Amino acid sequence: MTSLTPPLSGRLSRRRFLRFLTASAAFLASVRATPGRSVAGSVIVVGAGLAAARALADAGAEVTVLEARDDVGGRIRTDRSLGFPFDLGAAWIHGPNGNPITDLAAQAKARTFLTDDESVVIYDRDGQPIPGKVVVERERRYRALLKKLEADAPRQAGDESLAAALKRLDPAALEDPLLRYFLSAYAEFDSGGALERLSAREWQSDEKYPGKDALMIDGYDAVTNLLAKGLNIKTQTVVKAIACDEECVSVAAADGHAYEADAAIVTLPLGVLKKNAVAFAPALPARKREAIARVDMGIVNKACLVFSEPFWDVETHYFGYQSAVMGKYCYFLNARAFCDANALVTFAFDSYGRAFERQTDAEIEGEVMETLRVMFGKDIPTPQKMLVTRWGADVFAYGAYSFASVGVTRQDFAALAAPVGERLLFAGEHTSAAYRGTAHGAYLSGLREASRVGKLLARR
Ligand SMILES: Cc1cc2nc3c(=O)[nH]c(=O)nc-3n(C[C@H](O)[C@H](O)[C@H](O)COP(=O)(O)OP(=O)(O)OC[C@H]3O[C@@H](n4cnc5c(N)ncnc54)[C@H](O)[C@@H]3O)c2cc1C
Repeated sequence: MTSLTPPLSGRLSRRRFLRFLTASAAFLASVRATPGRSVAGSVIVVGAGLAAARALADAGAEVTVLEARDDVGGRIRTDRSLGFPFDLGAAWIHGPNGNPITDLAAQAKARTFLTDDESVVIYDRDGQPIPGKVVVERERRYRALLKKLEADAPRQAGDESLAAALKRLDPAALEDPLLRYFLSAYAEFDSGGALERLSAREWQSDEKYPGKDALMIDGYDAVTNLLAKGLNIKTQTVVKAIACDEECVSVAAADGHAYEADAAIVTLPLGVLKKNAVAFAPALPARKREAIARVDMGIVNKACLVFSEPFWDVETHYFGYQSAVMGKYCYFLNARAFCDANALVTFAFDSYGRAFERQTDAEIEGEVMETLRVMFGKDIPTPQKMLVTRWGADVFAYGAYSFASVGVTRQDFAALAAPVGERLLFAGEHTSAAYRGTAHGAYLSGLREASRVGKLLARR
């Protein structure tokens, strides 16, 4: 999935990338060349799958978007209650070079800030900054370990967890506080899953665009607002049931309204599909249900703390901490580096992300402050304001993003993406094997399915 952290190994498959670009560029070009002409028919988009809705509406389809929330961003949500734009979900364009979100951000005139993963000070458990040389050496070891894991996985008879593979290949790694830091701040953050749940075989099988990650400093919602402009979106419409036959697709909402169209694109998050929150008639094919059960949803939560004044170096982009607990406040983003807010954003991943959600805001603040006092001293001020996310408890997401759990293969992601018959189609980050867990993965999957509908409903 995503590198919320740096691309782990820059594994960009140029062939696949070019193939995708050609396909999506051809579709977009056909849409733009004949606006309002190439597609005839009606389409329901379940969940605000804005890329698909935009492309199809621009191509002339009659598109209705049914969205449960009262806004359209889904896991792209910008909160401004702290006095500056704080993204509760997606915040970075991961690998902006060639990334389609970069173009959308430019169209929306949204400002970005390139975060530099090397602009980091990592503190040990005694609050001492670790010398840069040591960090560089250990990061090299971390990268070598990733290569070793990648080479080892196909040689094993079956899949195992990343934690188990690490124990077998380099048992000392899991005891080394700095390597543990990289495994948490990079691998767990990147994928959304804990080492114990990540597939040793598949966790690195996704692809990255190149370039330093770009933060959307005015808020990621610039992109979703751009895509949503002028679309027929029915917010606060919780879909409960979807039925399809050879003629059409019918959708029932919790408020009693029913909708019918020639085709539907289901962009419900994997977490929602896992909970069977929406009934399908006929039932989804066994292979798709199996994939829904197998591919997992990770947890990434954020806590943003705003202070009266900075007590940290305002130029440094990140601060790291060698947390004893994996996934617990090991990484801090310095918002002051790119805006006026004296704010630090920290994260809780997967297993700890779940424990985090069971706490009150006051308990979370107490824990984060305990960590910051180790790093920056006992006299630092208490925060004026704090905002936390609880993505696991969000009934319209049930998690942050999908990841390859033990036993999952790329065919599982393909099964999640597979259409059911001609008229019931599926998009969303979890349907993109190559770019799962990212905003661009979700966007590209929407274009993929819009293209499929475009062929089905092509104007003759
Ligand atoms: C904390 C966090 C940090 C992230 N950071 C990044 C990042 O920096 N960069 C990046 O590229 N990606 C990041 N991501 C991932 C990215 O946000 C997602 O991959 C992407 O937004 C998912 O888009 P989607 O369309 O697949 O799903 P969603 O955006 O979740 O859209 C699905 C929609 O379906 C709606 N829905 C749910 N149930 C129903 C129902 N019953 N009826 C009707 N509608 C329903 C939901 O409300 C939602 O609007 C992050 C995600 C999280 C949670």
